Amino acid sequence: MGVERCGTGAGGGKTLPCQILVCPDCDLLLRAKRPRPGEKLCCPRCNCVLDAPVENSVEKTMALSLTGLLIFPPAIFLPLLTLDILGLENTGSIYSSAQAMVRSGFFFTGIAVYITSIIVPFVKLLLLFLVSLQIQFRHSNAATLFMFKTYKRLDEWGMLEVYMIGILVTIIKLLHMAKIEYDVGFFCFIGLLSATLLSSSFLDENRFWNEIHAQMLEKEGKAGEVEVEAQPGSNGPTESAVTK
Ligand SMILES: [Zn+2]
Repeated sequence: MGVERCGTGAGGGKTLPCQILVCPDCDLLLRAKRPRPGEKLCCPRCNCVLDAPVENSVEKTMALSLTGLLIFPPAIFLPLLTLDILGLENTGSIYSSAQAMVRSGFFFTGIAVYITSIIVPFVKLLLLFLVSLQIQFRHSNAATLFMFKTYKRLDEWGMLEVYMIGILVTIIKLLHMAKIEYDVGFFCFIGLLSATLLSSSFLDENRFWNEIHAQMLEKEGKAGEVEVEAQPGSNGPTESAVTK
């Protein structure tokens, strides 16, 4: 995706940001102005949502990812639930459950829980916080670009939601058989899950890519210069539809 400046015509030299987009679903090449927050940019051919700006996306993402990082240790290492079955108490955290799986011989399942419930969610929050921090203070560089690309690649590997479903199934199944107490870890985990989900939903990807690109060009002293190569066989960009 490239970004260029295009004139408004009668505005007397004033320019508005235009972007060239490729629809990920039908490969249509589009040229469109960025919609305002609350509006959506849709592909005129397949109706895929291409751009949905979020107001104060960088600030919201930074605050939520920092919140997630702060409550990450208690959510992972503190006990989630205490189960009392006929006087026998059992308690466990996400970390101890992964450890128990490895010790019980379910080595690969335990490692998968470590990766998808502990390592990847933590790395994703850390990357998102660092990227938004650098964009906010206009310090984007090649490392910011690498971190944001890594964040996008890890997107499908964080599975805290799946763990939450597992906890809910356990609660429903054991509700009539055991006395269940909710520990501090459970509430921290809910907070962590909310911070993770909200930080991804407030993330305005197009703005992040554009800001990183613009700040990198600014540092190199090439502000406003964008190279857009012609695609062989393409009929040129098409205007896209903006819907509210
Ligand atoms: Zn499309």
